[in-house]
Amino acid sequence: MSEGAAKKEDKPRKFQAIRGTRDLLPPETALWNRVEQTVHSVFATFGFGEIRPPIFEATELFARAVGGETDIVSKEMYAFEDHERPDLAALRTTIAYRNPDVLNAWSVRLYIEQVNEFVRAFEDAIEKREIPATPDNLRALDDLKNQVPRASMIGTDPASNVHITGGFDPIIAGIRELLRAIQFGDVITLRPEATASVCRAYIEHNMQQLPQPVKLYYIGPMFRRERPQKGRYRQFYQIGAEILGGTDAPAIDAEVIEMVMTFFDKLELQGVQLDINSIGCRDCRPKYVELLRAELLKVKDKLGPDSQRRIETNPLRVLDSKLDSEQTIIAKLPHIADHLCEDCATHYAAVKRQLELRGVLYRENWRLVRGLDYYMRTTFEITAAGLGSQNAVCGGGRYDGLVELLGGPPTKGIGFAIGEDRLILSLQESEKAQSRVTSHQSLLIYIAWMGQNAHATAIRAAKDLRNAGFSVELPPVEQKFGKALGQADKLGARFALILGDNEVAEGLWTLKTLADGSQQKLTEQDLLDFLRKL
Ligand code: ATP
Ligand code: MG
Repeated sequence: MSEGAAKKEDKPRKFQAIRGTRDLLPPETALWNRVEQTVHSVFATFGFGEIRPPIFEATELFARAVGGETDIVSKEMYAFEDHERPDLAALRTTIAYRNPDVLNAWSVRLYIEQVNEFVRAFEDAIEKREIPATPDNLRALDDLKNQVPRASMIGTDPASNVHITGGFDPIIAGIRELLRAIQFGDVITLRPEATASVCRAYIEHNMQQLPQPVKLYYIGPMFRRERPQKGRYRQFYQIGAEILGGTDAPAIDAEVIEMVMTFFDKLELQGVQLDINSIGCRDCRPKYVELLRAELLKVKDKLGPDSQRRIETNPLRVLDSKLDSEQTIIAKLPHIADHLCEDCATHYAAVKRQLELRGVLYRENWRLVRGLDYYMRTTFEITAAGLGSQNAVCGGGRYDGLVELLGGPPTKGIGFAIGEDRLILSLQESEKAQSRVTSHQSLLIYIAWMGQNAHATAIRAAKDLRNAGFSVELPPVEQKFGKALGQADKLGARFALILGDNEVAEGLWTLKTLADGSQQKLTEQDLLDFLRKL
């Protein structure tokens, strides 16, 4: 290796955020905080309380709730086995995957000893509940105990092992298979969405015994292994709300939509467009889906491969297609609105009336479908300006069957999830949001002090100003006034508070307005009064 190459290797690796994740930094995080403060205040006025579910849950929860057919479950989940005994799991890997080619009689004996040792530790760990006592694991333990010969039965001389019919190979193969089937922990997943968690919590904490409906909202990161692009990340943030229990009165659907629209309004989000649809219920939707499938089969060869596949797996998703060549074909397909059962049609009409009563503007979009099985009746999506093709900032709908599907009592449910990253992107596009954030920051006061006496006064002044709610920068070491003022300028401070020997002696402080360079002398009390009036 040349010297140059060696030097290169010594350099520590430069770490970067994982693909699809990013750091949210100031000043942008101030906007995130403003958005989240608005969530707390607006949602509270609609009677919602905050829930903070864990970031990971049993994989099965998402598989069941979101559905195995969806992109999320079939390919986007961050799932892993959660171990309490990584040591045993590692030992299993060593034994189960070791190259078996060169097992002569002696090493078979060692191998079997090792397996026996593993089985004892495995049994012990199951007893101590460090490894889950699933039926599969108990069976594996039983079979291992029965199938693994004792090492003492194996002679060191190959000739003495003729009593082991068929040789060692099938025995070892059997052991390896059993070992590989062991599950050392639960398979868990970083949540790709939070509706499943909220429903799980509703059941787990017997919330059906509370006054119904229960109204909950959450804010937090979600994880999906998607192709990263503008407005699409692998760790992204959602703001969501769910109403569980009580009735499915159309006023509930309308009010939850009204809440999102009020929230967007408060933020002055631009170009907000609400699309709504009804996708029927367990009674009427299957009939529509069959009709759709029949119609799609007639035009199958004019469709792209994705849509062709979806004719079988999920014909509704064809309506989602963005492919140019399919648009005229899709336009001629039957509309679900014409095939709703009487109850669903009545419900949908009432939701629209309820939205009108609330002054919420909507557009009916018969092609709006939610891909998940548990969705029914009301579905909605909201788009906003400045986002390109990833312009959906909110998706939601009714999911009356979900709690029951997760083992709870029959429960009505409706909710939505807002993509916070996209919401922020859209707000950033509009200058209003930007200037509001910077105006917050420009309240900064930079204290330019010189001399030890002045330092003591500056420390006290900083404490008082901060207690009064102002943002203060107090330099840790003495600086010449010129340098201090330059620094204050660079930081975008609005004022410099100048404290030198004169100021301290007179008890009159100099406040410099950096924008115009004007100065005034104030007592400490007058200074506070002056700043408070701004
Ligand atoms: P899309 O069709 O844009 O992929 P989706 O139907 O997968 O959206 P939902 O699961 O309904 O989205 O999530 C609700 C909202 O969360 C979306 O409208 C979007 O704003 C946001 N969202 C979803 N996936 C991502 C992601 N990977 N990155 C950023 N935001 C996302
Ligand atoms: Mg998606």
